[in-house]
Amino acid sequence: MTHQIEIKDVTFQYPGAEEPVLHNVNLTIEEGDFVAVLGGNGSGKSTMCKLLNGLIPHYYVGDFSGEVLVDGLKTTDYKVADLSRHVGYVYQDFENQIVSPRVLEDACFAPLHYGLADYRERALHALDIVGLTDLQDSFIWQLSGGQKHLLALASILSLNPDIIIIDEPVAQLDPRHAKDIYDILAELNQVHGKTIIVIEHHTEFVASYAKKVVLLEKGTVHFDLPVEEALNQVETLLKHQIYPPQVTQAANLTGMQDTLPVTLDGCD
Ligand code: ADP
Repeated sequence: MTHQIEIKDVTFQYPGAEEPVLHNVNLTIEEGDFVAVLGGNGSGKSTMCKLLNGLIPHYYVGDFSGEVLVDGLKTTDYKVADLSRHVGYVYQDFENQIVSPRVLEDACFAPLHYGLADYRERALHALDIVGLTDLQDSFIWQLSGGQKHLLALASILSLNPDIIIIDEPVAQLDPRHAKDIYDILAELNQVHGKTIIVIEHHTEFVASYAKKVVLLEKGTVHFDLPVEEALNQVETLLKHQIYPPQVTQAANLTGMQDTLPVTLDGCD
């Protein structure tokens, strides 16, 4: 059986680093999955995801062994530009992905760069999916942080990738806008058949939207489980300072929310 994504025995060390950040990582992801990657700060979540769009090992030419296959082809055999059409990545510092002064121009940038004749239709369709059609003529400086995040997502959607990775989608959003972005990801998953991979600390969204959870610990896959099973591993999650929804709900109900850290971000 061919998996859409297959990470096989990958060990990776950044150039100049003293030790590998990923150790013998093995993971498969199927078409149409909705995966949440959890783990403490520095556990290797972003690094593992950068294997999938080829940044590693093409751009970060550290010490890499093992192989990563996307749609059956090794990432080392792809050109990074070709891989971008399979795997779209909205980075944690998504504002740096915005390259044009106006919204529609930015959404057109990637398909135009790839010489796709229907770049404008693609961009308009992507803006429609994320709900930014009315702002297509706006300048970037007129957008809120949440709208910029949606634009970064639209700009990768304009290449129509099969796999969408988004690093901390709700980090800068209030709860209503956070739900909006997850609803868009759910539509991309359920209606458009996209595979979604989120790097996330907020387990309430993981519980409501993800199908499976991959927990990383110090650069290894600690578990890879269906979401319900994963969020029931309360002791393990707490050990990684990840607070499953039942714990935050219980804390809220008993007025003990102050006993949890103010930020639910994982940390070592
Ligand atoms: P996470 O996403 O789980 O917070 P990262 O994958 O960002 O973890 O980082 C894992 C480890 O790799 C950290 O110790 C981090 O400092 C290190 N690291 C990340 N990016 C680089 C880089 N470009 N060069 C050297 N070390 C890096």
